[in-house]
Amino acid sequence: MPRAPRIAIDPALVENYVLSLARHGEYAGTGVWRTVYSPEWVAAADQYARWCEEAGLSVRRDAVGNVWGRLEGREGGKAIVSGSHIDTQCPGGRYDGALGALAGLIAIKALKEQFGPPRRPLEAVALCEEESSRFPAAEFWGSRAVVGLVPPELPDQLVAYEGETMSQAMRAIGLDPAAIASARRDDIAAFVELHIEQGPILEKADLPVAVVDAITGIRHYLVELTGESNHAGAFPMDARRDPMAGFAEIAGGLIATAHRMGRPAVTTIGRVQVEPNFPAIVPRKVTFTVDARHPDPLERAALYARHESLMREVAARRGLDIHWEVYMDLPPCPADPALVATFAAAAREQDIAFATMASGAVHDAQQMAAIAPMVMLFVRSKDGRSHTPEEFSSVDDMVAGIRLLAAGLYALAY
Ligand SMILES: [Zn+2]
Repeated sequence: MPRAPRIAIDPALVENYVLSLARHGEYAGTGVWRTVYSPEWVAAADQYARWCEEAGLSVRRDAVGNVWGRLEGREGGKAIVSGSHIDTQCPGGRYDGALGALAGLIAIKALKEQFGPPRRPLEAVALCEEESSRFPAAEFWGSRAVVGLVPPELPDQLVAYEGETMSQAMRAIGLDPAAIASARRDDIAAFVELHIEQGPILEKADLPVAVVDAITGIRHYLVELTGESNHAGAFPMDARRDPMAGFAEIAGGLIATAHRMGRPAVTTIGRVQVEPNFPAIVPRKVTFTVDARHPDPLERAALYARHESLMREVAARRGLDIHWEVYMDLPPCPADPALVATFAAAAREQDIAFATMASGAVHDAQQMAAIAPMVMLFVRSKDGRSHTPEEFSSVDDMVAGIRLLAAGLYALAY
């Protein structure tokens, strides 16, 4: 693979693009509120398309509204693609998703200006939806359409928080839900997604960027722990079947298990409902969620087995009934080892200090992995914050990330 000479990325351009895109849906100063197919989203997609045209890329919009900017390669073949999503949380910040969509465009623009046409086609993409912030079950709407995993009946079934269907939202901006199958691509050679880290690991390590070697596996349990409701004063402790006592032990035990296994295992109990939820009544039932993640398939299986046996053991010892339902279960998604090696080598050549780490968050790249080898790059997040207007990455760190992206794309396409 060719070694890239030092690639120049203009810090002023990076800052200008990030701040300009963030104006579409600007919220509370540094925040952005931009849900898929909203007027702000349409304006952001149009802006992205204009920048692609200005960079000399040919622009195409697919059936779900993903925007693609393409630089033809002298030898043709499958495209090397880089991008991310441009929808946000309500509100999110300026960087989640947007930075990756812009990074693909800025890197390809810089490569074209500094090295001319590539050997193989390069494409930047702004994916339309990742956050599920307008349609709670949309789940990677943009990238799922690209990999052909949107069944034809789905646009009529997905309902927004406000009540409209996905089909209605698409038609309102001139997209035809019947055409979604045409968004599928089978001509992508590699997908590279740059994203902010959204956690504190790079900041703690004092490093600007990471090459991501896996996206974590995630499982969500909904657990029901049922005992017997009784008088909080008259019923002795040793005679109770108290689901709150069982829950407390399970919550402590599960969290301790993830601590003991160490990074990158994580377990979160984020939602608890108590019935009947009164001060002087021993509860009848405690319902709670468990979100448990690990990027390594074997460690992940061990984490879940430990969680399940602990929950069963506590329930049995305390005379409680326990039921759970697994309502989300995504396997870990390893990055392509050859791409990881390419980007690690590119970082060394460009003198960019980097970490190698797994992603604890889910991303479009794990959908794209169904049709192409993928890798991700992370850029340091200030205080690890994300999904908030507080989200921030410095211009220097963004430039380092985009320079690394460009160097890797150079190795793959030139
Ligand atoms: Zn994101």
